[in-house]
Amino acid sequence: MGGGQVTSGQGNDWEGMRITVAGLGVSGISAARALTALGASVTVVDGGDSEAHRERAAALEGIEVRLGDAETLPEGTDLVVTSPGWKPSSPLFAAAAEAGVDVIGDVEIAWRLRGPDAPPWLAVTGTNGKTTTTQMLASILRAAGLRTAAVGNIGTPIIDVVLGEETYDVLAVELSSYQLHWAPSLRVHSAAVLNLAPDHLDWHGSMEAYAADKGRVYEGNRVACVYNVDATDKPSTEDLVRAADVEEGCRAVGFTLGAPGPSQLGVVDGILVDRAFVEDRQRNAQELAEVGDVDPPAPHNIANALAAAALARAFGVPAKAVRDGLRAFTPDAHRIAHVADVDGVAYIDDSKATNTHAAEASLAAYESIVWIAGGLAKGATFDELVARSAKRLRGVVLIGADRALIGEALARHAPEVPVVDLDRTDTGAMLAAVQEARRLAGAGDTVLLAPACASMDMFANYNKRGDAFAQAVRELGAMT
Ligand code: ADP
Repeated sequence: MGGGQVTSGQGNDWEGMRITVAGLGVSGISAARALTALGASVTVVDGGDSEAHRERAAALEGIEVRLGDAETLPEGTDLVVTSPGWKPSSPLFAAAAEAGVDVIGDVEIAWRLRGPDAPPWLAVTGTNGKTTTTQMLASILRAAGLRTAAVGNIGTPIIDVVLGEETYDVLAVELSSYQLHWAPSLRVHSAAVLNLAPDHLDWHGSMEAYAADKGRVYEGNRVACVYNVDATDKPSTEDLVRAADVEEGCRAVGFTLGAPGPSQLGVVDGILVDRAFVEDRQRNAQELAEVGDVDPPAPHNIANALAAAALARAFGVPAKAVRDGLRAFTPDAHRIAHVADVDGVAYIDDSKATNTHAAEASLAAYESIVWIAGGLAKGATFDELVARSAKRLRGVVLIGADRALIGEALARHAPEVPVVDLDRTDTGAMLAAVQEARRLAGAGDTVLLAPACASMDMFANYNKRGDAFAQAVRELGAMT
């Protein structure tokens, strides 16, 4: 499934097709509307049957919606279009396979629906940093005077962008591993895989399957496959480039936080430099920007900026636009956001650090940290994260359902670090956590919310968790 040759629904041949859309979420609704407008006969299926589901179904007037059954394939289905979150092991897909029906996702539909003059796609994937890098890329492209948008896993559903009125010169496209899994014929101009760490393994089944889905972003690239020179875990992003079948002349371009070799972008004396898209790359390098132009100038974010720059340069953007675009960029909320300084202690909200890889990057950005961590572990283990970050920890406050897992790793690898185990899930829990953190912190320290866990045990989502943290810091400031 997903990887096979897909023949149905190619080109504009949607008229009269019977399409089952799996999932009544944002992308499902967008797909259902678009395909209906193209003359397909659409049924949306969703296992839920709540008030909210019924309201959404009612808003799709003229489109059949079946609630409360996510397993049975509607009679006569020619093609299934799935929402990204549905697992490949879902019974609906087993039924589709049995009936010889293909399953594809919203990105695949968008790819097939784009017109002959469609703008090229520059794609970004990876375990962490996708949204940030895609937005940096869009900012750089804009600084070069190009009409562009950051789309895909962010912003307007990609089908709506492709079919919309607005015209673009190029698109900056964030792609999740789920979206890539269900997009077999995608062939973009250039793509970057930022990094690879175990995540969403329950969805993909194994690390190999997860890596293979990420690696699909390189398939058929025309100009550049951008990989992370410094990430050497196996498989590395460079391994994924090697495994890909690309267009003749497409180049492998690395990015590194060290000095770049030929065909790489990297950092020399605080300057981001390009040794890939210059004449005579054996001898020459082009200055792009300064580390201080990147917000925040944390190592992982410099890596994001280099990857964005590489894709922009592959598209022919001048060096100056890279600098201007990075300067114009401000990160989204809850990504290493500086909330306030209280009594000489900086309070940083990185609620978006929902896995250990992201939290490790965050912890690497500060010297002396009181770390607020915990939540839903999603099957992760914390030994490596704690062992590698132990020397920076001044104290730890643990919150949430799986906090004991982090507590055990701390006992093993950082037994001298004071830990407060906060056994509270009520609305005042975050304020209590911040107060405990403040007690542990000294002037010059950083209190860092980088939970390494998902938020849903205590909060609706990571935004709400970050908001609660910021609110608690403000209350703390008011108390002093
Ligand atoms: P994604 O879209 O992949 O979830 P974001 O740009 O939203 O990525 O960043 C998510 C979190 O991941 C950030 O809060 C930060 O902690 C961390 N992060 C960002 N870039 C990187 C990177 N290159 N390597 C590791 N962690 C990163």
